Amino acid sequence: MSGAGFAGLTAAVALAQRGWSVRVHERGEKLREEGAGIVLWQNTLTVLDSLGVTDELNAGSMRPPYYETRMQNRIVSQEGMDGIAWRTMTRPYLHSVLLNAARAAGAEVVAGSEVVGATETGTLRLRDGSELEADLVVGADGVGSAVRDSLGIDYDRQGSRDGITRFLVGRHKEELAAIEPDTEWDNVIDFWNFEPRVLRVLYTPANDRELYIALMAPAADEDGSRVPIDLDLWTSIHPQLAPVLREAAVTPGRYYGYSTTRLEHWTQGRVALIGDSAHAMCPALAQGAGCAMVNAYTLAEAATAASASDLPDALTEWERLERPYTDRCQERSQDYADTRGMSQGGQFTGDVMETTLYDPTDPRRHDVARTR
Ligand SMILES: Cc1cc2nc3c(=O)[nH]c(=O)nc-3n(C[C@H](O)[C@H](O)[C@H](O)COP(=O)(O)OP(=O)(O)OC[C@H]3O[C@@H](n4cnc5c(N)ncnc54)[C@H](O)[C@@H]3O)c2cc1C
Repeated sequence: MSGAGFAGLTAAVALAQRGWSVRVHERGEKLREEGAGIVLWQNTLTVLDSLGVTDELNAGSMRPPYYETRMQNRIVSQEGMDGIAWRTMTRPYLHSVLLNAARAAGAEVVAGSEVVGATETGTLRLRDGSELEADLVVGADGVGSAVRDSLGIDYDRQGSRDGITRFLVGRHKEELAAIEPDTEWDNVIDFWNFEPRVLRVLYTPANDRELYIALMAPAADEDGSRVPIDLDLWTSIHPQLAPVLREAAVTPGRYYGYSTTRLEHWTQGRVALIGDSAHAMCPALAQGAGCAMVNAYTLAEAATAASASDLPDALTEWERLERPYTDRCQERSQDYADTRGMSQGGQFTGDVMETTLYDPTDPRRHDVARTR
């Protein structure tokens, strides 16, 4: 397997728990997830539950009371999700939970081991010149996937006009409450602002101590996308967030543009691609890692059910059944990113919830979809 991000580690746990001998090659010298926070929805939490990590996950994450959307600091919606599961956490924490589970299941995770390519007959090629044979090769090596590119799988990439800089900072709860005493600072709060310019702060408590903030600005806005952030600019638009913005201004960060990647096919022979290598998406619906982990799980199920000789056909069938859900999620996320539609609030209803409500552990899920 190539890549020990959320996709690769989830596949490693699910495959190892099903009796596969698993080795993950990670290019990074250290096994860790850089980056700030993440929101996971019911589809992904269901996968994590079936991997047996719910208790550990819950111990270091939180379930905010509401997802609140504001425009020009006026509340436009507060959504409690009506019993749908969702949680927020830091990325390093989620990574550590998955890494512990992968090791407990017997998977080997090797750091400082770069994959340079793969063949459809199941050979994984490493930077150090080794060639390893496997029944199944999983390319979970992110948006710049060497596995995908070595197989010559064609793709198109659609960019977005906005980008985001993400930070993990302290909660600063008392200071925030002193500024706005009536605000529930445990909520996720999506602070949109269009006038005099588009500058959005997605405020996401990750646990008791840590706050994840994502600062969105158009790529064309030089001051808005600058890192270190332009503190005067951001506090002039979002003065109620001054305590956390001050800390963000002295925290290292990087402005990222995002895009949608659509592949000709996710599988080739004995190779399957999952996660951003196969289906990177705009973060509007917060489902990129979610879909990655769901697809990692269903891949493990499909591969385990196949005989060694039938594996390539089983992978093709896995893609045929599972991909449409991810394709639709990518479309909706791209649409939200293009229109900035989440600023209208009340967005967690109707078709948009298809991905969240998908239960990848339900063996009858495709029967249900067919009879709809
Ligand atoms: C601003 C923003 C916010 C987001 N928020 C959310 C959210 O709230 N919820 C959500 O579900 N998703 C979110 N996402 C999407 C999510 O971050 C990604 O979809 C997810 O991290 C992809 O995981 P991955 O394992 O496929 O790829 P990656 O995280 O990129 O992991 C790939 C791994 O492979 C390794 N690697 C790369 N090349 C090689 C190689 N040649 N050999 C060996 N190893 C290699 C890398 O070092 C890395 O460890 C967000 C994305 C963005 C941009």
